Amino acid sequence: MNIHIDPDRCTGHGVCEGLAEDIFEVGDDGLAHLLQDPPPNDRREVIEQAVQQCPTLALRLADAPPS
Ligand code: SF4
Repeated sequence: MNIHIDPDRCTGHGVCEGLAEDIFEVGDDGLAHLLQDPPPNDRREVIEQAVQQCPTLALRLADAPPS
């Protein structure tokens, strides 16, 4: 599982950080960053919530291609 944060869309208000502060952090640059990349699979549910609740649709979840 990979998360892509679109820096052109993110407005940095931190809905994602509020849901999963172990995964997302809004930095001094005003953009969300990943604290764990790739994120742990057992956090998938809350990450999916963040993807759905991000008001600017800046988050995208992608499964790693099969190896
Ligand atoms: S919820 Fe979306 S817009 Fe808000 S900080 Fe997180 S990625 Fe950025």
